[in-house]
Amino acid sequence: MTESDLRTQAEEIHEQFTDQLDIDVDDVEERLDTLVNEYKVPLNEARRSVTNTYLDEAGMDRDQLGGGGGGNEQVEVADVDSPEEWVDMRVTVVELWDPRADAVAQVGLLGDETGTIKFTKWSKSDLPELEEGKSYSLRNVVTDEYQGRFSVKLNRTTTIEELDETIEVGDDSVEVEGALVDIQSGSGLIKRCPEEDCTRVLQNGRCSEHGEVEGEFDLRIKGVLDDGEDVTEVIFDEEATEKLTGITLEEAKEMAMDALDTTVVADEMREDILGRYYRVTGPTFGRYVLADDQERLAGPVDADEVLIKARSI
Ligand SMILES: [Zn+2]
Repeated sequence: MTESDLRTQAEEIHEQFTDQLDIDVDDVEERLDTLVNEYKVPLNEARRSVTNTYLDEAGMDRDQLGGGGGGNEQVEVADVDSPEEWVDMRVTVVELWDPRADAVAQVGLLGDETGTIKFTKWSKSDLPELEEGKSYSLRNVVTDEYQGRFSVKLNRTTTIEELDETIEVGDDSVEVEGALVDIQSGSGLIKRCPEEDCTRVLQNGRCSEHGEVEGEFDLRIKGVLDDGEDVTEVIFDEEATEKLTGITLEEAKEMAMDALDTTVVADEMREDILGRYYRVTGPTFGRYVLADDQERLAGPVDADEVLIKARSI
């Protein structure tokens, strides 16, 4: 067995797990080398054994290798509620976004009657291009979760088949109304990690993933709306925060610079919006509602209460 043969075999095995495991070709080669040259195991058997080791590590079955899938559950978007599940879906491509990393070939939103979900298609997966507005049967996609939000990943074992029918896409936006009863920490003028594909909010200048980094300023409000029965956590992004508070990112930076303290921004915002009533519409993100649209209401949201007051005037 020549070294270059082992290398080729190792590369082939490595290639099958690049989407699932962070493994090194050298490690694969070393394992093969030990079996073949030290224990004199035939190459085919060594290859099967090493492959099995990685299948175990990835929590995968053999039939998940090399495409075809089969045996997966056919799920709807709203059914996706845990990471690392291998599933089949019938979906329409709602939106394509610009990939921000070379490793990503396509990224965007898929949808069906039950809602929408983010997808990522790896460059290494070598899959055909998905087109916006077209419907597809996707087999062998794997679910993922980040901060309570689910997504699906298309990998090299995924098969894509364009459908003749159109899968209708439902609206998963919700509308919540209530008094803004709390503004949580991590609101106001914040700093985010500038690393590619990482937008984590920095804590004391540190990203939980990338350590100490030069952060980029952003505005955000994590608030709690209370309608008298339930509370809903709502996230306002920069645009929504500006609309909500009338404070722009530039103004917020100036306020923080004048005071040599970023927390003055959240304090100022709190003063203006806490206790006011809002109607917020947007998609859900884990337990949060992302404010796409918002409206300040005049007073209590309980229509009956308002009516009683109106009659008593
Ligand atoms: Zn980071």
